[in-house]
Amino acid sequence: MPAPCLFCQIVAGKIPARVAYQDETILAFHDINPQGPVHILVIPKRHISSLLDSTEADDALVGRLVREARNLAVANNLGERGFRLVFNAGDDAGYSVYHVHLHLVGGRKLGWPPG
Ligand code: AMP
Ligand code: ZN
Repeated sequence: MPAPCLFCQIVAGKIPARVAYQDETILAFHDINPQGPVHILVIPKRHISSLLDSTEADDALVGRLVREARNLAVANNLGERGFRLVFNAGDDAGYSVYHVHLHLVGGRKLGWPPG
């Protein structure tokens, strides 16, 4: 049996999370190890392992992730000062939870290039 996906378990309510937004297709919750005053993960409720595994059929869904991350940025008063959206993928990026997630990070000055 493969280990159950952590974020699928959060979607199923089996692991608690601080939910920031949800609808039929999307869940957003606060990162357990925040990298800024605001750090929210926006995920599809349907399991997709990585952006590498997404296809053109997922384009609308990926667009919804970005749209809701934008809305959450505004709702968290980041519209004026700015914020960052990040999809990690693969080892070089330190990808650690294999269920597509879009990081929304903000509320502090963010360095560039990222570490
Ligand atoms: P990534 O490195 O892009 O795979 O990011 C995975 C993110 O998931 C990290 O920022 C973790 O802090 C976060 N994370 C891991 N477990 C949980 C959890 N149970 N609840 C909320 N966020 C989590
Ligand atoms: Zn999953």
